[in-house]
Amino acid sequence: MADHPKRAFPAITQANHHFWCGGKDGSLHILRCGDCGHWIHPYAARCPACRSAEIAPQPVSGRATVVGFTVNHQQWQPDFEVPYVVAIVELEEQSDIRLMTNMPRTPIEDVKVGMPVKVCFEQHGEIFCPLFEAA
Ligand SMILES: [Zn+2]
Repeated sequence: MADHPKRAFPAITQANHHFWCGGKDGSLHILRCGDCGHWIHPYAARCPACRSAEIAPQPVSGRATVVGFTVNHQQWQPDFEVPYVVAIVELEEQSDIRLMTNMPRTPIEDVKVGMPVKVCFEQHGEIFCPLFEAA
């Protein structure tokens, strides 16, 4: 394993296991309403669109668009090499499903708002941290 930096993760629970560990099969998993098809992230016990409780994780395409980013130059963590990109990406499936992410496999000078990206994963034990790279 691991020529990548240590990252801080939340405790893995039933509510977030699909997101943090679902990448084991190579796909990003997001909750989806079984009644109306609305995608839900972060976790909610009920669908915000129709109030259904029939929600379950489903794989998404992994395709997204960069909608904003910044380049961090501050060495906040000792083994996190700077500079690096902190990006907000919007999933293709639904415009209000946005993730904050890093893009360590894409040269910083190539990152642009509006660029198509795809998910990739960085394994940390049972966690497959979703990151994005140029598509
Ligand atoms: Zn719904």
